Amino acid sequence: MIQLTSATAIEKAINKARTVKPRVRVNCFGSYTVTNKQTGATYTVTCEKRDGKRFASCTCRAGELGRACFHLAAAVAAHIQLAADKQAAH
Ligand SMILES: [Zn+2]
Repeated sequence: MIQLTSATAIEKAINKARTVKPRVRVNCFGSYTVTNKQTGATYTVTCEKRDGKRFASCTCRAGELGRACFHLAAAVAAHIQLAADKQAAH
């Protein structure tokens, strides 16, 4: 589980996600299945808000070690988009 403080903290992971372009499937708001199309590897990324702070975690090896992996970055990008859409709908 890592705390998402700013976009710059996961910038490297975001850049990697832009290169790899993993597929992100929304399970529900806050839960995403990320597939690396090149390797077929699938991981689950969870995003949540606690005490006004944003946290995210990934089930891959890097994610378990608390590192911002590109699965996490890709899912967080989808999560932010989804949250913005939700806001717009209200
Ligand atoms: Zn990961």
